Amino acid sequence: MHVKSVNLETVCGITSVLPENDKFEIAFAGKSNVGKSSLINALMNRKSYARTSQQPGKTQTINFYNINDLLYFVDLPGYGYAKVNQEIKEKWGKLIERYLKKSNQLKIIFLLIDIRHEPSANDRNMYDWIVYNGYNPIIIATKLDKINRSQKDKHLKMILKGINAKPGTTILPFSALSKQGRDEIWDLIETIFVD
Ligand code: GDP
Repeated sequence: MHVKSVNLETVCGITSVLPENDKFEIAFAGKSNVGKSSLINALMNRKSYARTSQQPGKTQTINFYNINDLLYFVDLPGYGYAKVNQEIKEKWGKLIERYLKKSNQLKIIFLLIDIRHEPSANDRNMYDWIVYNGYNPIIIATKLDKINRSQKDKHLKMILKGINAKPGTTILPFSALSKQGRDEIWDLIETIFVD
């Protein structure tokens, strides 16, 4: 898709009323620092529209980016900051849960996991929680450029096994440096318009 316009339309905090959008939504979830902002920027063809490298403890929000007046990218708060206290973690969790339960337009959830590492307990919880809420997340294995090409398949298998993914779960490798995987992700997004 050619991205002509991008607009950060709605920013929701813990107590915000979530928007009732009339266009499809695509959500992005993942641990902080996994490369979520970099992926969103790459898909939008923007250098730094979505924030990168948010500082731990900074205000977290759900950000709705209107793309071409056609669909929304929904940037969920990154999880897994070691320094954030339990109370704040629970508030973020509730905000994300409220969104997953409430949105009628959510069509795809991308769950981002660093291709280099075994998924963490937080990654497994997030995967289970998304499935529990009735969605089949697409896994994006980020930072593809950080491993040797010959290791790719092994690492993709390691991730699927690590989160105990349901058979048939789609996993796509992506690099924000080389943009490898970008077209495949867009192809997948575009399928929601023909279904
Ligand atoms: P977020 O916290 O999930 O939004 O992660 P960011 O997009 O801010 O990325 C965290 C760090 O990882 C930054 O220093 C990025 O430059 C780096 N990064 C993100 N994606 C990639 C990638 O595909 N390859 C490499 N080499 N670095 C990446």
